[in-house]
Amino acid sequence: MTTRAPQVASAVMLPSSLEEAAAALATTPAAVPVAGGTDLMASVNAGLLRPTALVGLGRISEIRGWHYQDGHALLGAGLTHARMGRPDFAALIPALAGAARAAGPPQIRNAGTLGGNIITGDRTGDALPALAALEADLIIVGPDGALRELPVSHLLGGVDMLRTGELIGFVRAPLLHAPQVFMKATGRTGPGRAIASVALVLDPARRGVRCAVGAVGPAPMRPLEAEQWVASLIEWDAGRRLAPEALQAFGEYVAASCIPDPEEGTLPAAAQHLRRTVAALARRALGRALS
Ligand SMILES: Cc1cc2nc3c(=O)[nH]c(=O)nc-3n(C[C@H](O)[C@H](O)[C@H](O)COP(=O)(O)OP(=O)(O)OC[C@H]3O[C@@H](n4cnc5c(N)ncnc54)[C@H](O)[C@@H]3O)c2cc1C
Repeated sequence: MTTRAPQVASAVMLPSSLEEAAAALATTPAAVPVAGGTDLMASVNAGLLRPTALVGLGRISEIRGWHYQDGHALLGAGLTHARMGRPDFAALIPALAGAARAAGPPQIRNAGTLGGNIITGDRTGDALPALAALEADLIIVGPDGALRELPVSHLLGGVDMLRTGELIGFVRAPLLHAPQVFMKATGRTGPGRAIASVALVLDPARRGVRCAVGAVGPAPMRPLEAEQWVASLIEWDAGRRLAPEALQAFGEYVAASCIPDPEEGTLPAAAQHLRRTVAALARRALGRALS
């Protein structure tokens, strides 16, 4: 189906399946996908982007929910933050639900999607540290309908990019059946962009703690040594408790990994403050996950 939208683009295509969307992008290579439009239309309104054609993803019902496969959930790229924030989703993937609940005001959460958050790839994107801690993968649909998989961290780290005509179809996230926490610090009260965020997941089957810090760098950061150190302290079969001193040390280890001391001189005051914020978030996130 094609309609006219002269103010934004000369053509708007509204496919009803991923296959049709891939075909639309193949026949009109200049077309830009649009999901909730919360980021894309902001760029159009600011005059930063003038797409000549749009492929609207809002009618593709297969990417607005999720299904299960081999101990994982395949999350449709069109899941809105509002949908991911609901209790049934929170029971499955609490860290991502927590991030979705923190992603902007209600109007944004009702329209903004998981796929859009990933592709925009803003450092303050709340879903991004949660996906990094989960070690989630993207299922990408190519112009000929072919599928390929890509770790989210590769896309966010610029190791591999979406190619022309490709779409995110699904995000594959493990179902870990253990506590997960997302915490965010903003510079204001009420909804706001993160100045720092932490997602932390426990993986009891692998006796692992996985943590990702958002907003302090261009992509989420994984403090791998701090993760391994703290996982070795946890008594996985006996209540999973840690002393307050260990929680404190973990917070500081995470923060120093993400915001290291400069080779010369001292850390500027603003960076010291950010480091304290990250340390507090990481300490609290681990404490909550183990409580
Ligand atoms: C006022 C305001 C407050 C906000 N606050 C927050 C916040 O606190 N936290 C936060 O994380 N975000 C926030 N955002 C950002 C935004 O809402 C999210 O990034 C949202 O998830 C984007 O999703 P969307 O569906 O609207 O993307 P769109 O705007 O539709 O698209 C964004 C980009 O992704 C591409 N795209 C979309 N879907 C796909 C797909 N399936 N495959 C390939 N490419 C795709 C588009 O082509 C475009 O380049 C805020 C935005 C606004 C305007």
